[in-house]
Amino acid sequence: MHKIEHIGIAVKNLETANELYTKLFGTPPYKIEKVESEGVNTSFFKSGPNKIELLEASNTDSPIAKFIEKKGEGIHHIAFAVDDIFAEVVRLKNEGFIVLNETPKKGADNKLIVFLHPKSTNGVLIELCQEILE
Ligand code: ZN
Repeated sequence: MHKIEHIGIAVKNLETANELYTKLFGTPPYKIEKVESEGVNTSFFKSGPNKIELLEASNTDSPIAKFIEKKGEGIHHIAFAVDDIFAEVVRLKNEGFIVLNETPKKGADNKLIVFLHPKSTNGVLIELCQEILE
C-alpha cells in the first residue's frame, strides 16, 4: 500500500452533490461513471494530487443505500493504491483481516478493487485498488 488513492463519500443525490463539489473544488468532476455490478453511480473529482469519489445508490439494494439508511451521508470508504492486489489479499488475510471479496473485481475508474470488512479495520471500510493496465 503506497498512498491513499481516493476517499469515497456516500451521497443521496449525485447531481446536486456534483454541483456542490464543483463549487468546492472550483472544477467539475473529471469522470462520471455508473458501476452496475456495485449498484452505484459515481463521480470523481481531483483536488491537487488527491481524488474524491462521490457514490450514489443506483438501486434500493445498493450497499450505498443501506449505508445512508444506517449512517446518513458522509465518508464511506478510504481507498489505498496497491501494486499487486492479489498478493495483498493473501498478505492481509494472513494478518487476520476480513476480505469481503477475495477475487478482485472491476470497480470504477478503471481499477481492480477489494474491500476489507470494517469489522476488522476499526470501523473503516477500506478499499484496495490497482490500476488496470490496458
Ligand atoms: Zn472507491
